[in-house]
Amino acid sequence: MAAARSVYFSFLSHHGRAVSQPLPLPALHASHAGTWLRDANGATRGCSKGEAVMAAADTPQLLMNAPLVASRLGYPDLSGLDLLELFAFVYPARFCVPTPKGLAHALGLEEPADDAAVPLLLQRAAGALVATCESNDWAEREGAWSTLQSLARLRWPWAGVLAPHVRRPERAEKWLFTRLPEWEETAERPQPAQVLIDEPEIEAQLERLTGEGAERREGQRLFSRDAGHVFGPRDRQKRPHVLLAQGGTGIGKTLGYLAPASLWAERSGGTVWVPTYTKNLQRQLRRESRSAWPAARADGSPPVVVRKGRENYLCLLNLEDALQGGFAGRPAILAHLVARWAAYSQDGDMIGGDLPGWLGTLFRKRGIAALTDQRGECVYAGCPHYRKCFIERSARNAAQADLVIANHALVMVNAARGRDPASRPTRIVFDEGHHVFDAADSTFSAALTGQESIELRRWIVGPEKNSRGRRRGLAARLADVASYDDAGGEAVEDAVVAAQALPSDGWLGRLAENAPLGPLEHLLAAVRATTFARDESGLEMGYGIETETAQLPGELVEAAGTAAQALAAIRTPLLKLAGRLEAIVEDAPDWLDGQGRARIEGARHSLAWRIDLIAAWEALLSRLGGPADPEFIDWLQVDRNDSREFDVGIYRHWLDPMKPFAKVVLEPAHGVMLTSATLTDRDETGPDWPHAITKSGAPHLELAPKTAEAQSPFDYAGRAEVLIVTDIRKGDIPALAGAYARLIEASDGGVLGLFTAIRRMRAVYGRIADRLARAGLPLYAQHVDPIDTGTLTDIFRDDPRASLLGTDALRDGVDVPGRSLRCVVMESVPWPRPTILHRARRAAAAEQEGGAKRYDDRIIRARLAQAFGRLIRTREDAGHFVVLSPAFPSRLLSAFPEGTPVTRLTLEEALQRVANGVVSADLSTAETLPQ
Ligand code: SF4
Repeated sequence: MAAARSVYFSFLSHHGRAVSQPLPLPALHASHAGTWLRDANGATRGCSKGEAVMAAADTPQLLMNAPLVASRLGYPDLSGLDLLELFAFVYPARFCVPTPKGLAHALGLEEPADDAAVPLLLQRAAGALVATCESNDWAEREGAWSTLQSLARLRWPWAGVLAPHVRRPERAEKWLFTRLPEWEETAERPQPAQVLIDEPEIEAQLERLTGEGAERREGQRLFSRDAGHVFGPRDRQKRPHVLLAQGGTGIGKTLGYLAPASLWAERSGGTVWVPTYTKNLQRQLRRESRSAWPAARADGSPPVVVRKGRENYLCLLNLEDALQGGFAGRPAILAHLVARWAAYSQDGDMIGGDLPGWLGTLFRKRGIAALTDQRGECVYAGCPHYRKCFIERSARNAAQADLVIANHALVMVNAARGRDPASRPTRIVFDEGHHVFDAADSTFSAALTGQESIELRRWIVGPEKNSRGRRRGLAARLADVASYDDAGGEAVEDAVVAAQALPSDGWLGRLAENAPLGPLEHLLAAVRATTFARDESGLEMGYGIETETAQLPGELVEAAGTAAQALAAIRTPLLKLAGRLEAIVEDAPDWLDGQGRARIEGARHSLAWRIDLIAAWEALLSRLGGPADPEFIDWLQVDRNDSREFDVGIYRHWLDPMKPFAKVVLEPAHGVMLTSATLTDRDETGPDWPHAITKSGAPHLELAPKTAEAQSPFDYAGRAEVLIVTDIRKGDIPALAGAYARLIEASDGGVLGLFTAIRRMRAVYGRIADRLARAGLPLYAQHVDPIDTGTLTDIFRDDPRASLLGTDALRDGVDVPGRSLRCVVMESVPWPRPTILHRARRAAAAEQEGGAKRYDDRIIRARLAQAFGRLIRTREDAGHFVVLSPAFPSRLLSAFPEGTPVTRLTLEEALQRVANGVVSADLSTAETLPQ
């Protein structure tokens, strides 16, 4: 496709700022409602999809979000002048909702009135962005000219348009890697002082944080005092203070625990960790922490740090490699836009930080992941960018911080294998604490799969032939050690030879053809064959299939034995190497300076966890064919998406993952709080604290945690209504789709639709999206639209007429206060999927009070409560919670907040109520909820 010609004009307003004219280039917009083209200087007209595809093939069109337009047109190869790419170039690290309306807001332009007005908006937005490049006030000018030269070489479609408008700087621009600041090495923090904070002090601090004149909330005051409990000095080793605090939505939990946390951090000089489950809450915490801490201390260091797993951050070495030829074509363009962003980013966080979530999806490939350090190939001090590395800076900042905001998994991983024992979390507030069980479940599990084992091979051996870029194996990373220490060199060589037993490129294809290579591929082939032979649940659906590890065929057991030997043969030289590295650090040679030592320490750390990983795999294999261990649940699994296989493996989970959690996280801690609006199950008799205590892991240490509860101040009885629609038959997809469409129409958008199966969600979406779009009601869906979940939520939040369909991640991760979310529709009662893992835990629960049925009920009630929690986020919110279920058991109704009216009715009646809004609803027929 030819690069677009520059045909842009601007003039200066009387303020000296560039005032933009629409960019006279043809523009294309496609939605579910139709397709529109606009000539360079002419009028907008509706057209057919075919005509739009032809136009785009002929001349580069202005468009927005090319993959989305491509999916609307059903033409995957579509490309053009994407406004989002231009935005990312002009305003790196700035937020923009990737819709025409969102772009208009970000640029201060008038919103388009309808779809037909979008092409003109695209021309205006392009004009405004190009005008910014001319403006003297362009804050992100530095680096733009140099990047543009590189992008022109890569034939970025915008390069030709922009070239006349981005002036060449008078002095050479600083290259990203010189521009970024270096972090400073600082002394280790001493251990925290033992301090006691009394309740009046906590209350005074809370008042200070909530601001003078803030409404005094009794629930919050009590919650805050209780939270102070976990910051007291510990009396006995391995006996942390544990608090389970349930605080209803709206009581102000965050400031409630930040009050004692900030006092404790100030007086003790220690660090409080607050892990959350969702990124939304991390953002909110960062915002709210500003009332307790300044942005920077007197010495410039940040007292509050957001800390994530290293796979979230940009690795500068990977970026440099990508910019210098490691990436080609479109991924190389992405790398240059990421480099622009990196120069302006607050912390280099690529996933949920200030890199727009939509940027990666514009490039369709796994480009973003390849720029992070996902494979643990960091060479630490051996890296030329070590002193500027975002990951290293964030780790150092966290070690000095008063408050570290993190996620559940990171805190668990850090506690289990943190590099530096001094920086392991000891005062922890798990917010969204109802997810701790799930986070522990995945953190403490083991999986020997094709994907995992090929990663290990690449880490040891390096990339296979034909791969571009800098990725190198162990031998190259430790070349200097090998040349100095013969035994270490031999160990590396032995490990590289032994690692040939691991799967290599093309393993999935070989498995499908039953032509595996090497002992691990043979094992995986046997796993795959057994799973296909035995699964009776999902074979027809095209999704993942699984089978238990009982009565395994002899050949699988035999293959497991051979694979275990091969793994042991890899682990042995790695262990030897770890020993040699330790000896080198202890008896340091002359050439080993501080940086070299840090690098070897880094290598020791990553070796240690690979050795643990291999040992866990060996343990997993050693049990196959033998008696089952009652502490664990093992199974075989083939992962598939639309019948396309992408992984095969053996899985092991703890029956109770809170057992390792108690050992690894609770035992060494001094104070741990779990808090959430839905920490306890609530059956007809009220909150079930004994179960919440069991689920916290505390009983494994024979601890009796303190419990606390504060009710939500929201008026659920007057602001919300639960509607159970009884006349949509289960499995009737046309009826289900019709119900969704009509409910969305009745509420004029603002619907969050929740599904338990992606397949049904896709079917519903396919049937109703066009119809709704024609009525001006945009519909988006997870797993359908080529947009990441965070961005989908931003789009939904931004447009009160939009609706969003999704699955699990949306049930708990969507925080959309106000009118944008006024109705939640669940497709059915959210029964747990009968997986092998679920079945085993259910069977274990059958022996306890209430039995297996109660186990399922708890899961369903928790899901209902979480989904209902999306509806009312503030005192002003109001709305309907609709469940499409002919047989909704009454015992599940206690999931909803006390006093919430519940009505069983037909779809017609429900539509009436939704259309009328909650406040005018006639609640006379509502069931009474337990009080
Ligand atoms: S220190 Fe490691 S993570 Fe950081 S830039 Fe270098 S290689 Fe990447």
